[in-house]
Amino acid sequence: MKVLTAQVGKVRIGPDGPIVIQTMCNTHTSDVEATVAQCRRLARAGSQLIRITCPGLQDVPAMKAIRERLRAEGIDTPLVADIHFSSETAIAVAPYVEKVRINPGNFHKDHAEACRQFSRLVTVCREHGTAIRIGLNHGSLGSRITELYGNTPYAMAQAAMEWLRLCAGEDFFNVVVSLKSSNTLVMVEAYRLLQQQMEEEGTVFPLHVGVTEAGGGDSGRIKSCVGISTLLSEGIGRTVRVSLTEDPEDELPVARYLADRYDKKLFSSLCNLSLSGREAVATYDAPSREKLLLDVACDFGKRLLDRELDNVVFQGTYREDGKDISIGESGLGAYLTDELLQATRRRFYKPEYIACPGCGRTMYDLQAAFEAVKARTGHLRDVVIAVMGCIVNGPGEMADADWGYVGEGGGKVTIYRGKTPLLRHVPEAEAADRLLELITESKRENPPE
Ligand code: SF4
Repeated sequence: MKVLTAQVGKVRIGPDGPIVIQTMCNTHTSDVEATVAQCRRLARAGSQLIRITCPGLQDVPAMKAIRERLRAEGIDTPLVADIHFSSETAIAVAPYVEKVRINPGNFHKDHAEACRQFSRLVTVCREHGTAIRIGLNHGSLGSRITELYGNTPYAMAQAAMEWLRLCAGEDFFNVVVSLKSSNTLVMVEAYRLLQQQMEEEGTVFPLHVGVTEAGGGDSGRIKSCVGISTLLSEGIGRTVRVSLTEDPEDELPVARYLADRYDKKLFSSLCNLSLSGREAVATYDAPSREKLLLDVACDFGKRLLDRELDNVVFQGTYREDGKDISIGESGLGAYLTDELLQATRRRFYKPEYIACPGCGRTMYDLQAAFEAVKARTGHLRDVVIAVMGCIVNGPGEMADADWGYVGEGGGKVTIYRGKTPLLRHVPEAEAADRLLELITESKRENPPE
C-alpha cells in the first residue's frame, strides 16, 4: 500500500511528519494591506498553513502581492488559495501559491467537462510544484453524486474517490483531501469510509480533517474536538482546521491542543473514570475551564458518537483565578454533559447552530449576526439554524438546516426556509426578529407531535 505525503511549500503533510495546523483569513483579499497584516498575526500565532479566499480572476494579482509582501518580510508560511467554482481562477492563481483548494465537481455541471478542467489544473500544479486540496462538503455535493448515492457520507467518500482516481491516473500525488460536514456523525463516517476505501485500493492520500461551520464559543470548540479527535485517535487525518465563527487566531490554540494531544500522546486531566452500564462518571482536576472543555470533548466524543456510552457525569475541580472550583456545584458539569450530548447528536437541549467561520467573501459582520440570532432563538428546541457569511456560497453550504440567515451585503439579509429564500433584503437591524417570527409561526402551524 502506498501512503502518500503532500509537499506544500516547506510543509510536509503525511504519515511521517507531525499533524499540521492551519486557519483561514477573513479579510477581503483585495485589501492586500489588511490580509498581509492578518497573515502576519496568524503566522506568529502558529498557523503552519494560511488559506485565503480567491473569489475570481480579479483577485489573482492581490494573492500574488500578498505572497510577495510576506516573503519579503521573511514569512514563509505556505499559502492556500480557496477556490469555489472557477477553474480558470484556480489555474491562474496556482503558480503564486503553495496549494489550491477546490471542489472540482463545482467546475462544471457536465462531469466530463469538469474532469477536463481539473486535468488542466493538475498540469499547471505539476509544473509549479503546487499542491491541491480536494475539498468536498456535505450539502454541496452536486446533483450527479446525490442522484447516484444519495446525500450521504458514502456519497461524499465516493465523490472524493472519483477525483483521487483521476489524480492517480495523471500520476499526480501532491494532493490532500477533506470531506467536511457540520454534523459530527456525518463527517466521521465519511472520513472513515474514505480512509477504508483508499486502503482497499492501495493508495492513501493524506486527509485534512475538520468540522465545518461548527459555530463559535464553547459549542464550536466542543463540536470540533468531538469530530476531529475521533478521527485523529484512529490515525485518520494529518492536517487540522478548527473552524470557528470567531477571529481566526482563536482557532489556533484548539488546533494546537488537538495536534499535540494525538502527536505527542499528551494526557488529559481526567483522573478517575467509573462506569455503570453505559453511563460514565468522570473526575477531573483541570488547570483551567478551557482545558477541561477540550479534554472532556476528546475523552468522551468518540464513545458517545459510537454509542459505547449514553451519558457522562462530570465531577472534580478546575482552577480559575487561583481557586479550585467544583465542577458539579458550579453547574459546569451539567452544562458540559448537555453540550457534549448535543455535539455528538445524542440529545438536543438548544437549537443546533451551523455558522460559517467567515472568509474574504463575507458580506456583513458575521460574528455580530451570529450573536444576534443566538440571543433571539436560544430558547427554541428541535430546530437547526444556519448563519452564513455570503449569499454566493452560504445557501449551498447550509446542508440540512431548517432555517438560514444569510448576508447579502449592503446591510441586508436573506432568510431561508430550508433551501428556499422566504424573505429577501431584510435590514440587518430587524432580521433576527423576523427570523424568530417566522420560526414561531411555523411551529404554531406545525406543532410537534
Ligand atoms: S459561506 Fe462563509 S466561509 Fe463560506 S464562502 Fe461564504 S462567507 Fe466564506
